[in-house]
Amino acid sequence: MNLKYPLFINGKFIETSEKQNIINPSTGKVIAEASLASLKETELALASARAAFDSGPWPHFSLLERREFIFKIVQGILDNAATLAQLETQNTGKPIKETTFMDIPSGAKTFEFAGNNFINYLADEELNVSEEAKSRLLREPLGVVLLIIPWNYPFLIACWKLASALAAGNTVVLKPSSLTPLTALELAKIVHQAGLPAGVVNVINGGGSQIGKELCLDKRVDMISFTGSNETGKEILQYTSKNIKKMTMELGGKSASIVFDDVDLEVAVNSCLASIFLNQGQMCTGMSRVFVQEKIYAKFLADFVGKAKRIKLGLADDFETQMGPLINDAQRKKVIAYIEKAKAEGAELLCGGKIPENAELRNGYFFEPTVLANANAHSHIFKEEVFGPVVLINKFSGSDEAVTLANSVDFGLAACIWSKDLFLAQELARKIIAGTVWINTYGMFYNQLPYGGFKQSGFGKELGREGFLEYTRLKNVILDQSAEGKPLVNYWYGF
Ligand code: NAD
Repeated sequence: MNLKYPLFINGKFIETSEKQNIINPSTGKVIAEASLASLKETELALASARAAFDSGPWPHFSLLERREFIFKIVQGILDNAATLAQLETQNTGKPIKETTFMDIPSGAKTFEFAGNNFINYLADEELNVSEEAKSRLLREPLGVVLLIIPWNYPFLIACWKLASALAAGNTVVLKPSSLTPLTALELAKIVHQAGLPAGVVNVINGGGSQIGKELCLDKRVDMISFTGSNETGKEILQYTSKNIKKMTMELGGKSASIVFDDVDLEVAVNSCLASIFLNQGQMCTGMSRVFVQEKIYAKFLADFVGKAKRIKLGLADDFETQMGPLINDAQRKKVIAYIEKAKAEGAELLCGGKIPENAELRNGYFFEPTVLANANAHSHIFKEEVFGPVVLINKFSGSDEAVTLANSVDFGLAACIWSKDLFLAQELARKIIAGTVWINTYGMFYNQLPYGGFKQSGFGKELGREGFLEYTRLKNVILDQSAEGKPLVNYWYGF
């Protein structure tokens, strides 16, 4: 272990006395040492972001100047793509094929999209409201934005938030999960090399319970953009009730796929496998419940289980690996506890449900892809997010029943519908309570399309025009344009 990761505050890389070992979940070995922020560094980061917004040049640069910086960040990510992918894989256990072809290039594309579009999104709007008045609607940056990132997509989600926040003219404090800070701290290096003024981006590593509360409570923060669990989301909402601030909350999910009997079975089975087992099921939009129409249920189940057993577990940095380890032992224990409870509540275990015996994987946090059938709709596993490679497969007969089952949980993040009847599928998409509905596909995120959850999955959007505008505030400037410049209010008292 020789990698050292300092914090990035006010344009400087700062080593702190308190350090944390960063573990590779494939091997259980220490791969790096990251500095941990204490309250002192938290204060420095907040002060630096505030000063950079209030008196620094960043919010006052022309939009074209700001765009140049954004494109330098794109180039920095592309230049370092292979290293970033390696680090993300070593830190999260996500297979290298996923980080190489998905996470890192998608992060660069998000910055590129922001760079290409934000100038249009920020254009003032002029409205002639009446003969007496016209209005200019101005899109302004909010100020200091706190970006809180989870461990499952540390680089990509940091890019989603940072690209919009910066392009809109804000300054930021970015707090990655203390389990996975490495690629966010690499992003700090890229930002630094791109020449952004000191204090515009500050990246501090630390546990949520240690520094999260101070960050969220602080009045110098104008907005919190949070992605993480429902439990933490609720805590943050409590903190922010002390000081009003803008928020977006991207929380957990218990998403459903509905598979009709007219589908191409092979396509549906293959896609449903990917929709739960990519990233070891540690995906907020993982389709952890699959409802299959009764006529094809038995065949679907047999094919699905047969293929789930063939998924190749392995060390995450091997390009042949299809499933890596879970993030840590605590997460694996949580997954096991859910499976045990599900069995006690009547679910039938069809495959997986255990730690693999392969000696090469002994020191990592691996877990076999797990399929459970006939889980009771009132059981814990049916309603709660497991966040692991565990899928429930149940039968349905009619479309109303399928929609009722899909909507019967507190979450509302995403859903999939598999059918050749596109009319029916689109009708059902209206009835499903979820922020994203995919028809005959899964997991297609586009930078131009807004993404976000309903119900307990949160509020606000990432990506697209709407996601970008979350990082702005709208000012209404009203101008008198009455013919003689004498609106009623000027003479209200008759003087
Ligand atoms: P988490 O809630 O434990 O942590 C998320 C972040 O919040 C981390 O940076 C953590 O340090 C910080 N944090 C923890 N306690 C805090 C506090 N009291 N105050 C301030 N910050 C605090 O989530 P996680 O385990 O890292 O990530 C998994 C969760 O994230 C899952 O529930 C998943 O569904 C969700 N998620 C949602 C989306 C989405 O887009 N909806 C995307 C990815 C992950």
